[in-house]
Amino acid sequence: MIMQRHTRSTPQGLPEGRAPLRRPGARSVHLDAVTLECDVTHENQRLGAYETRIKAAFDQVIPLVRQLVSRQFEADFAESAAEEIRAVLGCEPPYALLQHAWTGQLDVKALVSHLTFAVYLQFVTDAIQARPLAHPACEAFQRFLTECGYHRFDITPCADGRMAHVIRYVLRLPAELVRRKAYAGAVFDIEDNLAKWAEVELMRTQESGPSATQYLKVVAYHVSSVDCETEGCAAHGSDDQKAAQAGLDALDGFKKAVAQTFHQDQAVEGLLIGVDTATDAIRLHLPDANGVIALDTQIRALDCVGMDRTAIQAHVETQASHAAPGMQKLAARLIEHNLEQLRYVESRHAGVYPDIGHAERFIGIGVGFDEIQLRNLMYFGYLHTVEEGAADIDVGLKIFKGLNQSRGLATPVVIRFDYYGSIPGARARAAKRAARVAQALSARYPDQFARAEIHYIQVSRDLETREPPELLGSNLPSLIEEIGE
Ligand SMILES: [Zn+2]
Repeated sequence: MIMQRHTRSTPQGLPEGRAPLRRPGARSVHLDAVTLECDVTHENQRLGAYETRIKAAFDQVIPLVRQLVSRQFEADFAESAAEEIRAVLGCEPPYALLQHAWTGQLDVKALVSHLTFAVYLQFVTDAIQARPLAHPACEAFQRFLTECGYHRFDITPCADGRMAHVIRYVLRLPAELVRRKAYAGAVFDIEDNLAKWAEVELMRTQESGPSATQYLKVVAYHVSSVDCETEGCAAHGSDDQKAAQAGLDALDGFKKAVAQTFHQDQAVEGLLIGVDTATDAIRLHLPDANGVIALDTQIRALDCVGMDRTAIQAHVETQASHAAPGMQKLAARLIEHNLEQLRYVESRHAGVYPDIGHAERFIGIGVGFDEIQLRNLMYFGYLHTVEEGAADIDVGLKIFKGLNQSRGLATPVVIRFDYYGSIPGARARAAKRAARVAQALSARYPDQFARAEIHYIQVSRDLETREPPELLGSNLPSLIEEIGE
């Protein structure tokens, strides 16, 4: 079954109810979904089944609520609605909210947000416990990376939801090993990244002493080959050249910062990747031996369709003769991986996504969200404070003005801070941070909060366990009741 979710440039005219009413996948217990078979077809089927299942779960919320609205004044509404919510979504229904319906109006906005959050919490729990996207070859990739001359693959994609699957789907890399932090326009915070770099290097030196490998910083910008004037990167006004240049500038800024602060000119290697969000085809801008990247030199995955590993390698060596052999080898492998993704998009959507534009189901802000490896599911802003991520949140809310608010729905925002339980006080600090972000959010957007156009939940999780995430707070009364129980 193929998802039918169309571009949302004209949200009012959209058909709804395109997702079938059915139970989301059965709840699974602890079971790593790694199989020995790494065959591409099998892997594509596995990734496809997962994408379909998760998106269908989110997409049955609105048809269900629509159907409930029409029955809200029936005598046994609360009971029958509760039963139906349980049957269709598999989650506990918000009783009080349903019971209030007959005295006034069913609060549709609150119900849609409540159920969206419920589906989200189920999805995260399932991802933690079943690890449905576990990569079949983590160790092999780490070895390969070292052979290419790198010890860390750190990627900053744009916060755009159409880039959320860049690691596990577009590049077919293990999300377990690749570090990701998304920023609007892929323009990342240099100081924050500098601190992370220092942490990684310090740990490495303590473990094994200095080595010859480099820290690889990858920036992924995006363009759209369909409706390119409106569906490119919102943070750069859909100007592809600007998006690429901004990514390159951030990359150069980071390399300079490491060089100046730590006097290590060669410690970081940069790689710039462009992703066509309509097709997932990538283009790579490789650095030369001195680390300099020229935007006009690029290798396109589309030029390698039909080639085998050896042919791709030869193509990269010819097209990017300026790059170091390790970088060429890595680039060739990324292209090979991307060709698997192009086959995936080909078989599911005849090569071009039906949802060219934004179709995210919710916004996620904070630190965490490792389970989000699916396209157009969540708009992601990596941040510690609202002030720091203000630009990202502004872009996200603007997108949801078209997606949700124009249809009379609120924008669901998940505020999430994960922590390591073995660090004393970490849980309390994560909870405090989530509360602070929630407060700052309502202070920054008072009008939207007054009109109940933003609903949020505060969530946290201990990364050292496989326990479900903890719901810490919300501005939805129905969810606060749940926490209070
Ligand atoms: Zn973008």
